[in-house]
Order: sequence, then C-alpha cells, then structure tokens
Amino acid sequence: MSILIKNVSKTFGSFQALKDINLEINTGELVALLGPSGSGKTSLLRIIAGLESADQGVIYFGENNITEISTKERNVGFVFQHYALFRHMTVFDNIAYGLKVRPRKTRPTKQEIEKKVNELLRLVKLEELKNRYPSQLSGGQKQRVALARALAVEPKVLLLDEPFGALDAKVRKDLRRWLRRLHDEFHITSVFVTHDQEEALDVADRIVVMNEGRIEQIGSPEEVYEHPNSPFVYDFLGNVNLFYGRLENGKLHQGESIFSVPEWKEENNKQAVGYVRPHDIQISKENQGEDSIMATVSHIHIVGPIVHLELKRQDSDEFLEAELPKDTFRSLSLQIKDQVYVKPNQLKVFIPEDYSI
Ligand code: ATP
Repeated sequence: MSILIKNVSKTFGSFQALKDINLEINTGELVALLGPSGSGKTSLLRIIAGLESADQGVIYFGENNITEISTKERNVGFVFQHYALFRHMTVFDNIAYGLKVRPRKTRPTKQEIEKKVNELLRLVKLEELKNRYPSQLSGGQKQRVALARALAVEPKVLLLDEPFGALDAKVRKDLRRWLRRLHDEFHITSVFVTHDQEEALDVADRIVVMNEGRIEQIGSPEEVYEHPNSPFVYDFLGNVNLFYGRLENGKLHQGESIFSVPEWKEENNKQAVGYVRPHDIQISKENQGEDSIMATVSHIHIVGPIVHLELKRQDSDEFLEAELPKDTFRSLSLQIKDQVYVKPNQLKVFIPEDYSI
C-alpha cells in the first residue's frame, strides 16, 4: 500500500509542529523518519495513523483519500517504544488479541487464529516462550512480541515509533534485523521514527530527514549520507570536518590554505563553509600538491577494520578527524606526532547566508 502525504501542516496552540509536508512512500518500502527531538517525526507518524488530525493537507493510502477516516479503519499496525503489551496476557494471547477482538463476521476461527499465531511465533523465534507473561521476557523479546502482534492482523501499513529506543545497543541491532526480515516477509509498507542515524542508515530503504517541522532531505541512506543537501543534514548524519573560509574564483581560501571548489567559480568574496566526512580526508606522507595541507597526527584510535585519526592542522589551531581502512593505515606506518599531508576530497561548500548555520 503506497502512502501519499500532501501539503500536511499541524499546529499545537501557537507552535507549528509540521510545515507543509509532502512525501510519497511506495508500496513495500521501509522508510525512516529521522530527525532531532522536536522535529515533528512523531506528529507526522500519528497523522499517518489517524491518531492526530492535520490542520491542512491530505493523506492517501493507495488510491484512497483517508484523511477523514478513523484509525480503526486505516488498517495500520503499531509498535511503540514502550512495549504496551497486555501484562495479564501470555505471549500467545498478546499476539492473538487483534484477531480475537474482530467483529464476529470477520473473525477467524479458533483454529485459524492458532495457526496464524504459531506461524508468527516461529517467525520471531519465540515458540518456546508462548506461555510466558510479558514480565517474564527481556526487552528485546517483548519488542519481538509487539512486532508479531502488530503483524497478526495483516495491516497494510506498519508504523513504528522509536520501537527500539529503550533497548541496549546490541539488542537494538538484533531487532533491526528482525524488523527488516518481517517487513520483507510481509510485503508491508513500513514507516518508522528514529532519532538514531545509524539505525536509519542501517535498516531503511529511504530516509526522510526532518528538522523543525520540515523535510530537509529525502533519499537512500547512501544519498543522504554521501550527498547531504544542507549543512543540517551533514551535521546530523555523522561526523564532519568544517573548513571556514572565503570563496574567490573557484577556490576556498582559509588563511594561507587554498582548496579548489570549481563549482563555486561564480561566487566571489563570499564567506563559506566546506564540509568533509572523515573518510574523505586523504592522508599521505608526501606532499599531495594542490589542496593539501600539513598536519600532525595527534591521536590514533583503532576500532575493527577502521582507524580513526585526530590530526592537528599546522596552519591553524583546529583539529581534523580522519578515518581510513586498517590496511591503508598500516601501509602509511603512521605514528603519533608524525607530520602528514592532508587533502580533503569532496569538499562540499555551503554559503551560510543561504542557511542558518
Ligand atoms: P521526539 O524525538 O522528542 O519524540 P519528534 O521529532 O517526534 O520528537 P514531535 O513529538 O512530533 O517531535 O513534536 C514536535 C513538536 O510539537 C514538539 O515541539 C512538541 O513539543 C510539539 N507537540 C507535539 N505534540 C503536542 C501536543 N499534543 N501539544 C502541544 N505540543 C505538541
């Protein structure tokens, strides 16, 4: 089921939480709404669910305008951060609940319900625990029950609000895999809210980056990470090095240092900021010619296959962060206090007056 959100705005009192949101989600997509606290993610999710109404705009599920349709009739499944399982019901009964409370006409038989619930228990690997109560489960197990319960009623759309927010990092990672697997298996359309960029980058087909009630960028994880369209998205989606300077004839001047930015050759005498991800900092012991500056290795941190370096620039008091594969690091045989030449690849420049940075 595709979802179309057109010109949706929402105000709470005098505060505008959503400002003219336009978004199209394709059938079978897993889309993450990503943004800092207060950016409007939950409000948008609640409007898609029908738990909140928009002041303006329309929402379609497939061909149907469902803007005025009640939550119950939208056929959506929910998973929230706090498991919201029924405490007095076993795992089996929690999953069966949505089917058991259906009106008699559409309610499956007892045998059909049992078959469905057992199938879901198998999918989330909780067959052994089906007679336990929620208090006898770990956080991760509870969220797997919540996922199975949401899917039992075969919703067309699955909505998840920070579903793994209360869990520790390892369990969160596990549950992402579960979500991805169930999403694919059920050919469902899923929208999930998170403020965790790593989670969104890891699991979503597309990411909608939100900021102050607006959509900043929509794109695949690779697009939003590698090609942010604003300083906000650069900052929000991972570490970044900043090069403050002045544009002149296609060059960014930073004191004595000069970096080529040919796409900006029309802008002269403008303050600008260059953004570079740590893995786009090229390091060499030899002078790399134009665009390279000298720096001193001030810290080395090795995590798995990636080496994180902190480099003190020689042309200023600033530090740079760089990341390189362990093999490259070894071949450079870098040590603390070594002098190196550093070259920013893919320096993406923004002019502050175009953005509030
Ligand atoms: P978080 O990650 O903290 O949950 P969010 O991006 O999901 O944030 P929302 O919950 O959508 O943000 O809230 C957006 C803004 O709207 C916030 O400033 C919030 O205080 C405000 N807001 C949300 N719901 C209400 C409400 N019912 N009444 C008044 N203000 C609200």
